[in-house]
Amino acid sequence: MNIKGKNISIIGAVRSGVGAAKLAKKMGAVPFVSDSAPYAKIEIYLQTLIDNKIDFEFGGHSERVHHADLIVTSPGVPSNSEVLLKAKELGLRVVSELEFASWFCKGKIIAITGSNGKTTTTSLCGHMLETAGKKVFTAGNIGLAFSEIVLSADEQSFVVLEVSSFQLDHIESFKPYISVLLNITPDHLDRYENDFEKYRNSKMRITANQDGSDYFVYNIDDKKIPLTISTAVQKYEFGATSTVQYGTQISEGKFIFNSSDGSEEICETSALFVKGIHNQYNAAATATIGKIVGISNTDIQKAFESFKGVEHRVEFVKEYKGVKYYNDSKATNVDSVWYALKSFEEPIILILGGKDKGNDYNELKNLVHEKVKKIYAIGSSAEKVKSFFGEIVNTELKDSFDDCIKSSLIDGVSGDVLLLSPACASFDMFNNYEHRGEEFKNSVNRILL
Ligand code: ADP
Repeated sequence: MNIKGKNISIIGAVRSGVGAAKLAKKMGAVPFVSDSAPYAKIEIYLQTLIDNKIDFEFGGHSERVHHADLIVTSPGVPSNSEVLLKAKELGLRVVSELEFASWFCKGKIIAITGSNGKTTTTSLCGHMLETAGKKVFTAGNIGLAFSEIVLSADEQSFVVLEVSSFQLDHIESFKPYISVLLNITPDHLDRYENDFEKYRNSKMRITANQDGSDYFVYNIDDKKIPLTISTAVQKYEFGATSTVQYGTQISEGKFIFNSSDGSEEICETSALFVKGIHNQYNAAATATIGKIVGISNTDIQKAFESFKGVEHRVEFVKEYKGVKYYNDSKATNVDSVWYALKSFEEPIILILGGKDKGNDYNELKNLVHEKVKKIYAIGSSAEKVKSFFGEIVNTELKDSFDDCIKSSLIDGVSGDVLLLSPACASFDMFNNYEHRGEEFKNSVNRILL
């Protein structure tokens, strides 16, 4: 794609926006970065923009934005924002950073999407390919932006991308070699006018441009994934409760790969270091990718054994007087909490609450009844948590993590688990989920000496 001399407006001066601007500059275009956020929010990227001699503005979008040959949008900018609606009205071409970077990608793209498990699966997949000695780049929502690494990838490289539905909203020709759909649960519905169909269609776009030389790997147990995929893409499945014909079956403690060549055991599920059935699904998706690209069962097993998980996702923090403390701050929706609770056999003290995105807790009712001995309710939704769960389990309002950890010294007995898995966003008390997770770990490590 020749973009030499083209005026490209980039909306959103965040990681991917700045990455796209640098890429545009390298390819000979004239990038202009525009962000509506105040200076303080984009300050960390300022030096990069100046060093790369890239024009920018913040605190609003001027008219210059729409005097462009192309608009590249960052995932954080909603499709119905004024700046994008105006671009549409003017007939301007608008693409996501994902689409833009893909124009310059020589490597084989493995794109992973879903409501939950994207980061974990992307990391595990990258780790598996590395374990097998492949040249691999992981990018997207985790680590570096796609635009930052794309020019380093050659034909031999694999580029594993964590892809959100927001990035898929503005693709045109994005065509991964392997696309993966982990699951679809209602999250971020606010960005899709509370229309589940729209959200689902947006996720399905990951496979829209694939053809017979590409692969689509999906969760066959997730009945919300529509199977009316019309393209000629080669389909592989993974799952535990449905029968997998082509792909990876989780069955009787084993990962089994089924294909037209027959059935073979990849390895036992116990090889997987990370806990929980949800991680078995993530691993089954990864194993399927591994089999498609020709990785040996031994290397897949090695990767499963040595992958220690990603921070803030059911992350083990400390054991104190026989009570194990886990940080699952990334659990910002009900579904993630369901899987986190499923991961433990031990009685659980659960820290729940934060900024509620319209949670329906009914899904958790039975599991909480079965596994949770006490709830500490925190954040702006603490009262809602208490009024919903108070009748099922002893629920106490807490002001802070310090408060929770101190109480756990009284409520917890050897063999229990204390789990932060809040089912809510963090913005009521923290900058983001990482900040919340760090603060939780600080409390644990400070109080439990
Ligand atoms: P994402 O990048 O999609 O947000 P993560 O890998 O960061 O996903 O995990 C987010 C949360 O979802 C964590 O709390 C994790 O325990 C949970 N989780 C991970 N994989 C799955 C899965 N396959 N299904 C449901 N929940 C999952």
